[in-house]
Amino acid sequence: MTTPLSNSLHIADISTTLHPYTDARKHEKQGPIVIDRGEGIHVYDSNGKKYIEALSGLWSVAVGFNEQRLCDAAMAQMQKLPYYHTFAHKSHEPSIRLAEKLVEMTPEHLTRVFYTSSGSEANDTVVKMVWFYNNALGRPEKKKFLAREKAYHGITVASGSLTGLPYNHKHFDLPAIPVVHLTCPHFYRFGQDGETEAEFTQRLLAEAEETILREGPETIAAFIGEPVMGAGGVMVPPEGYWPGIEALCRKYDILLVSDEVINGFGRLGTTFGCEKMGFKPDILVTSKQLTSSYMPLAAIVFSEAVYDVIADNTHAIGTFGHGYTATGHPVATAVGLENLKIIEERDLIGNAARLSGPFQEGLRKYADHPLVGEVRGTGLIAALEMVADKETKRPFDPVGKLGGKAFEIGHEEGLICRNLGDTLALCPPLIITEDDAAEIVRIMGVILDRTLEFAK
Ligand code: PLP
Repeated sequence: MTTPLSNSLHIADISTTLHPYTDARKHEKQGPIVIDRGEGIHVYDSNGKKYIEALSGLWSVAVGFNEQRLCDAAMAQMQKLPYYHTFAHKSHEPSIRLAEKLVEMTPEHLTRVFYTSSGSEANDTVVKMVWFYNNALGRPEKKKFLAREKAYHGITVASGSLTGLPYNHKHFDLPAIPVVHLTCPHFYRFGQDGETEAEFTQRLLAEAEETILREGPETIAAFIGEPVMGAGGVMVPPEGYWPGIEALCRKYDILLVSDEVINGFGRLGTTFGCEKMGFKPDILVTSKQLTSSYMPLAAIVFSEAVYDVIADNTHAIGTFGHGYTATGHPVATAVGLENLKIIEERDLIGNAARLSGPFQEGLRKYADHPLVGEVRGTGLIAALEMVADKETKRPFDPVGKLGGKAFEIGHEEGLICRNLGDTLALCPPLIITEDDAAEIVRIMGVILDRTLEFAK
């Protein structure tokens, strides 16, 4: 994936910018791939090379890369009221209308909305809301979070603490808030020899309950999880896992938070992941596909019961001392509202449900490929995990080198996926057609075959 440092953009980039999730010294040598424009499910780089964006950017561009209606919505709002805040009793129409829409679309018992600009800020806000809630209830001890290893909840100080990935913790002095990470509900990797999937589920639920009892239920405030885990490697939990977690939360008076930053708005073929996984969260976090990432926006949607406790305390204190300059930003919320209308009008959630079969089944054909240990996913999110030994599931050493090679080959073949270590993740825009899905599946076969040459 070496791009010649041939033009001033490349030079300017490497001499000015520290990139997220990038080896900075390697970047100085190879330079960036400058993405220049987008069209449907494709993006084009500054050399005119065309790619299928099979990760929707960062799991987020549901409606594709040139939706005129979103540009028009942004422009109209820019011209009318480009900015206003929502502090101290102020409001504006786009944030109000989007909140109504979110309350309509989310499960019935979720009735209240708080906006931020990113998933990380949203999860930080959730932590603070949950602490505020328990302080209001006179339970100052009830502050700990339960999360899972390999979870991704963001990278700010609190959300990064909830995340369960070593490279988000090491060197950053995280976790910095009280959090206990439970076993990742991924049977292929964490199931024990001779254990059935049902036994695995029961073991994880027993671990969760033992942890609650060991720490003391009076200290555990909330459980946070992605219904289907995304950035940690696309892991679909076994049947019965989520209803079991929900039952434990109810038993021990623990708030249940569904982080739907990737799952939300149709990714799994249902409007929200919690619906597909069969549980009712107290708090649901959305971002990414909320605006198709055309504007930075996240929304926390939560129950009236949680709202009531928080609202009473704001009244007692005189304010809710939390909020961002951009909370409910009018351009972002106007774009979000239009984006959700498009998702509904074009039945993109139905499209994800319909194409789930061909997409998932097409990829599962590669389960026999010599490199592939597991093919997994549901709806329009999937992953192929490459292993050194299919029998023992032994990973490659070092992890990620071959995945990086496959990622580069993908670019050469005109397909952008994401390598999470040696797992290749796919999450195409919800607008894909059956032909697009087949093309993604075909190119993944080419990528695997070409990558095999480097595994020897
Ligand atoms: N939560 C989940 C499930 C995510 O996948 C992400 C980002 O990938 C986040 C939170 C953090 O969102 P952001 O990158 O907007 O801060």
